[in-house]
Amino acid sequence: MTDTLHCPACGALNHCSLADPRTATQDCWCYGVSIDPAVLQALPEALRDLACLCPRCAAVEDQLRAAGNSPIR
Ligand SMILES: [Zn+2]
Repeated sequence: MTDTLHCPACGALNHCSLADPRTATQDCWCYGVSIDPAVLQALPEALRDLACLCPRCAAVEDQLRAAGNSPIR
């Protein structure tokens, strides 16, 4: 079973709005940030493209906070 709600790297909720029917019509937080390709490269290949990273593992918390758009309260 593919779990799209949790970060494949750490298992925390990834706050992906597209994975949740209640928020699927909203743009995901990941649209507004740039994720370092090195972060994605560091993931095991089997985990890539299955689920979103959480903002912490994607190393974009600073970008989200700066944009006032953080899903993490
Ligand atoms: Zn994570």
